[in-house]
Amino acid sequence: MKPISRIAAGVQASTTLVIDSLFKQMKAEGKDVVGFGAGEPDFPTPEHIKQAGIEAIENNQTRYTPAAGLMELREAACYRLKADFGLDYEPKQIVVASGAKHSVYIALMTLCNPGDEVVIAAPYWVSYSEMVQQAGAVPVIVTAEEEQDFKITAAQLEAAITDKTKVFMLNSPCNPTGMVYTREELEAIAEVCCRKNIYVIADEIYCNLVYDDIEFVSFASLNEDVKNRTIIVNGVSKSYAMTGWRIGYSASNPELARVMSNYLSHSTSAPSTISQYAAIVALKGPQEDMQVMKKAFEARRDHLVERMNRIEGVSCIKPQGAFYVMMNMKNFLGKTMYGRKIESAEDFAQLFLEKGLVATVPCTAFAAPGFVRWSYATSLAEIDKGLDRLEEFIKNA
Ligand code: PMP
Ligand code: GLU
Repeated sequence: MKPISRIAAGVQASTTLVIDSLFKQMKAEGKDVVGFGAGEPDFPTPEHIKQAGIEAIENNQTRYTPAAGLMELREAACYRLKADFGLDYEPKQIVVASGAKHSVYIALMTLCNPGDEVVIAAPYWVSYSEMVQQAGAVPVIVTAEEEQDFKITAAQLEAAITDKTKVFMLNSPCNPTGMVYTREELEAIAEVCCRKNIYVIADEIYCNLVYDDIEFVSFASLNEDVKNRTIIVNGVSKSYAMTGWRIGYSASNPELARVMSNYLSHSTSAPSTISQYAAIVALKGPQEDMQVMKKAFEARRDHLVERMNRIEGVSCIKPQGAFYVMMNMKNFLGKTMYGRKIESAEDFAQLFLEKGLVATVPCTAFAAPGFVRWSYATSLAEIDKGLDRLEEFIKNA
């Protein structure tokens, strides 16, 4: 048979989703495994949002919608962008997609020609580099070390830019580091993007999960030039515990939005109409449930970080947002544990799952090879169980 698409053949399975399904499979087999793998809130979708989905079905709101999404949902997205960040967008600038992942994907498809370069700040969410390659573009990785709080500087960005650079991928709060860029840091980055004339995809899906009264700054709010060249990506998955409903959205200049909508009209069309009606209520309805979840995440983060740093051999810096902790496990690289040599974060995570029955995500695919990611979107009891097992795992190795 003839070879299949080179681009498709090169796509790697998502590490986060692979770990999550392995964890769920082990659980289904009756194993007493604890999961810190997939980043999804453990809370149920709030009642009033679920009710909106049920009502959509009962009212027969079950037909196609425009490819860019229901007008009412696009208006709801505009309402949130204004209320939360003071940003003015019109519905024609909003494109609803099947999750924020899909919004990033169509943004890249819209902006990139084959061979274009896309600068990605590492550690980065695993799907970015794969999606860039799916668009035929080339990921250019700029690494932010733990010592610089996992945030790249404007100078690092500038040094990575070439004539081929088309896009910079920004993710604040960041998955997997949890770090949040300050206004000053963003202004410096924005200055480079404007001067070098590059687009920015600002993935702000964790915008509502920022702790310690730290300010979240939406990139597009910096100035008009920045706003015009930025595609904001956001969605309901993380803020409203709606990962399975599959609703994300983007806000951009009208021309980019038009092209993204055209792209959708020949691929997925709009996401499920029922989910869209529920998302309207999420964005426009009461926001208290989100605050309750945020408080819980913050308490879990404090506990996890404090206890982890008391465990011999591992450490972590305190993340400021999202719900991930990057555990530094470099001490174990090159050592032998349970008769096996630990050459990478994968080896460590695999052994920890096998012997310690704890699922974590090795950060090699996030371009952070000495780290293992823990998602703390799980109960305090589970967090303690996982850390007890980490202590045992290290002690008995
Ligand atoms: N961006 C980042 C940084 C994420 O961590 C996630 C979570 N998977 C997404 C986008 C995608 O979210 P969604 O479930 O809305 O596709
Ligand atoms: N964003 C989550 C994570 O990083 C969900 C899984 C995914 O879609 O990658 O775990």
